[in-house]
Amino acid sequence: MRVSPDTIAAIATPPGRGGVGVVRISGVKVPAIVESIVGKPLAPREATVATFRGEHGEPLDQGLALYFPAPRSYTGEAVLELHGHGGPAVLHLLLARCIGLGARLAQPGEFTQRAFLNGKLDLAQAESVADLIDAATATAARAAARSLSGAFSREIGALVDALVELRMFTEATLDFPDEELEFLRADDAQGKLAAIEARLSRVLAQASQGALLREGLSVVLVGVPNVGKSSLLNQLAGDEVAIVTPIPGTTRDTVQRQIDVHGVPLTVVDTAGLRPTDDPIETLGIERTWAAVAGADLALVIVDARESAATIPDADRTILERLPATLPRIVIHNKIDLAMPPHPSAVETRDGRVHVWLSAKTGEGIEALRRTILDAAGAHEDMEGTFLARERHLAALADAQSHLAAASQHLCSAQAPLELFAEELREAQRSLASITGEFTADDLLGVIFSRFCIGK
Ligand code: GDP
Repeated sequence: MRVSPDTIAAIATPPGRGGVGVVRISGVKVPAIVESIVGKPLAPREATVATFRGEHGEPLDQGLALYFPAPRSYTGEAVLELHGHGGPAVLHLLLARCIGLGARLAQPGEFTQRAFLNGKLDLAQAESVADLIDAATATAARAAARSLSGAFSREIGALVDALVELRMFTEATLDFPDEELEFLRADDAQGKLAAIEARLSRVLAQASQGALLREGLSVVLVGVPNVGKSSLLNQLAGDEVAIVTPIPGTTRDTVQRQIDVHGVPLTVVDTAGLRPTDDPIETLGIERTWAAVAGADLALVIVDARESAATIPDADRTILERLPATLPRIVIHNKIDLAMPPHPSAVETRDGRVHVWLSAKTGEGIEALRRTILDAAGAHEDMEGTFLARERHLAALADAQSHLAAASQHLCSAQAPLELFAEELREAQRSLASITGEFTADDLLGVIFSRFCIGK
């Protein structure tokens, strides 16, 4: 993939009104655009107060202009940022002025794509830019920032270096076939390979935690009205991190909520909306909810601690029966504070199912539930220090892992030619390099960057 020669422009701040709005421009026409809009040269990387002018010299806005000459900029090209007032009309006037001067509208993620293509960021870092913007919890944001600073890329780089070293010995030996066995013994190929495999396993385990922080967990809530679903959600979210927010884009905002459980974003799907109805709009909502249920990772089934789980009403029984059989479940016995005799908070496994006794009103047992949920998802105690990762990265790591396993088998087999061993090492290296973007197909790059927001 090559960098387009066009100069691109976009409003980099979100739509709507705000104190400040930023128009960002990148490409070869930037110096001419500075000349036309600001009317005076700008010192590199210094904020300059300026009047931004239109075609006939009329003032469009007043603000700060920042000029980054190539290559020391975000994209590696000449970049201009105009920090004006954050109103949609004034920002569109400024953007139109840039287009009039020969820039074109930027595609989503095109600035970051240029940064990648110009070698400012590797692919994993570029992806973490979008992940940082999209991070649903503070822990996820910190993990994305760690990936952006290169923590994940360095791990991958170290693995690739170790592989390259082993490949060098192997390829050299291939030229002297009589010494194959000597090579294997003398250089401890088996030991080196085992060390790489162990390191890869550690990176994969860490990346899995990172993927959990990014993707979060989708949890289905099942329970009759008044059993305490809303109270439980509020308790789970916790006071200090009370981001019980509706997820935009659902027709009925109450259906899905996102909360933060020790840094892991939990998307909670409330099946209260799953009861039969004649209302067409509600029916649409119901279909969406079932789709969410089908993709869920965990079900929380809430019952009243004063009743036995056997008394689950028919409507919920129907919902329970329709849940995918493989969907893991936690049975929550709520309102222990009202139980007679009082029931202590507890976590127990019965018939292969985890049961938690708690009170959504007093908060007793809530922390145990948080831990139980995170356990079910395979989350570690402490998610701090993790770097953010994507499913794509996990797949590439797993792919590299299977090539290394095959390489190890070839090495153990007396009959297998060394070429096969060498080939598996090469493939493992390719898989790892696809994470940082060294060998990544153009169409995949297109998909990755198209998911960014415009102006980033
Ligand atoms: P939902 O309809 O399932 O969302 O239930 P709510 O969360 O709205 O709770 C219904 C009622 O039960 C409210 O009056 C809550 O205060 C009360 N409630 C919920 N959980 C508990 C609990 O653990 N103990 C007690 N005593 N009351 C609770």
